[in-house]
Amino acid sequence: MRVHVIEPIDESAMRKLRAEAEVVAWDDPEKNDLSRADAVIVRAASVTREQILAAPGLKVIGKHGVGVNAIDLVTAKERGIPVVYTPLSNVNSVAELVFGFILATARKLRDNMEHIRRGAERIAPATLTGLEISGKSLGLVGFGNIGSRVAQIAVNGFGMEVHVYDPYMKAATAKERGVHLHETLESMLREADYISVSVPLTETTRGLIGSAQFACCKPTAVIVSTARGGVIDESALYEALARKTIYGAASDVFVQEPPTMENPLLQLPNFIGTLHIGGSTHESLVRVGNTVVDDVLAVLHG
Ligand code: NAD
Repeated sequence: MRVHVIEPIDESAMRKLRAEAEVVAWDDPEKNDLSRADAVIVRAASVTREQILAAPGLKVIGKHGVGVNAIDLVTAKERGIPVVYTPLSNVNSVAELVFGFILATARKLRDNMEHIRRGAERIAPATLTGLEISGKSLGLVGFGNIGSRVAQIAVNGFGMEVHVYDPYMKAATAKERGVHLHETLESMLREADYISVSVPLTETTRGLIGSAQFACCKPTAVIVSTARGGVIDESALYEALARKTIYGAASDVFVQEPPTMENPLLQLPNFIGTLHIGGSTHESLVRVGNTVVDDVLAVLHG
């Protein structure tokens, strides 16, 4: 069995794979030539129609993480090649980043650092006074794997009240989970002190949160996104933050990734940006790497 691993994955997962298969790793110049491959594992790299058609022995494509948009699923289906991915393995890491964002924004950690860099006053200025999160209301845009884990931490850890906008969620599920389900995004935004966005990027979610939605938010609202660039309209977010019609925001995702300092959001003291690191924890990389290797080997073993 010959498995191509196009980008680095966790060492323990590689050991497991090497014990059962011949591995063509990311540093091999032949890695993209799938003509003799039985399987291929990718992280961000694409798997194109040409590559699939030029790989007569290909039996499975493994995606490290979620988001299979860079893999030609149509051609894979045509050729009867299953695509396996790891939807649950990084959920907790992403959910923890949501709280990193909420706490860092509410307590103005970025702005604190800027003051220290410029030469700090002995007593922090009033502009650095922050907000608590305990007992406040949390608005979730999307109640899938990440949204529901965020809700669990919010309730258990901070006694927050959870409000949800997810048009695919049933009222019975909301009742069972003890969350308030809203019929419109706007009604949820009016209630929320903190807002976390975790929906996929689709034609319906592109630009889902723009000027009209920011106009519904409380002036003390903090909004954080670990979804995909484009779900929040970046220029509307800039306006809301610059005019202080909301309190702060943080995002792990941008329309253009990696973002550069030309992105005006990054100039704002009440905005924090990260490099799409939602799933990048040691624990998550071990889980994701091992899950994708297990699933690929399971298909190869039939
Ligand atoms: P999921 O599929 O379990 O949940 C998505 C939820 O969004 C579902 O409950 C769905 O009903 C809801 N939804 C769909 N359209 C909606 C709409 N128009 N309005 C409100 N809700 C809507 O996915 P997940 O595992 O929770 O992940 C969510 C997204 O987070 C992923 O699609 C991915 O884009 C992103 N993500 C980012 C990172 C990162 O590193 N930042 C890591 C993992 C996932």
